[in-house]
Amino acid sequence: MSGGSRIGVMGGTFDPIHNGHLVAASEVCHALALDEVIFVPTGQPWQKADRDVASAEDRFLMTVIATAANPLFTVSRVDIDRPGETYTVDTLRDLRAARGPDAEFFFIIGADALSGLPTWKHAEDLLTLAHFVGCTRPGHQLAGGVLLEGRFSLIEVPAVEVSSTVCRERVRAGLPIRYLVPDGVVEYIAKRGLYLGQDDD
Ligand code: ATP
Ligand code: MG
Repeated sequence: MSGGSRIGVMGGTFDPIHNGHLVAASEVCHALALDEVIFVPTGQPWQKADRDVASAEDRFLMTVIATAANPLFTVSRVDIDRPGETYTVDTLRDLRAARGPDAEFFFIIGADALSGLPTWKHAEDLLTLAHFVGCTRPGHQLAGGVLLEGRFSLIEVPAVEVSSTVCRERVRAGLPIRYLVPDGVVEYIAKRGLYLGQDDD
């Protein structure tokens, strides 16, 4: 039996990417014996239109820096190169087109985002494109799974209580973010002066 590759997909704004994202991806990768996890930074984030988001290139580069040392982690530009707002249905269609029909996709999603999944564009098609893997996140209840029976699983990941929002707030307040995000990302944020003066949500 020579099945296709098992590919995790970790979508996010990654503004910035932090250790919570990396731990969740690593844990799901191990638990489901995935061959690869593709991190996919969003283009125009439609659910976050109420605040300034770092440029797609900055978010992409931070994601590359954060994942560079892990041979199982890669980063895709599909969402930032597609014009318009990002919808996961397009992400999965593009990745499927790029990776061929034998690839099996596992979309990784944290507990907070999971409850909104049924309202996503073409929610019913999503389930034909990928398995959905809900992972635990401190401070959030896992909910919504009943709607996704069949191609849906839940995985408990080590609790890393950090969010991009907290990282941005800490940078703006002059507080350290080292050990919340990879060292290279700390340095990139400082070098580019990200998150210093921004009004946030
Ligand atoms: P923001 O605070 O700007 O919303 P975020 O920390 O929630 O940022 P996102 O880019 O919105 O990060 O999240 C991308 C994906 O990673 C989502 O599925 C989210 O649920 C998941 N995720 C984010 N942080 C964690 C964490 N600490 N533990 C587990 N999953 C997480
Ligand atoms: Mg979020």
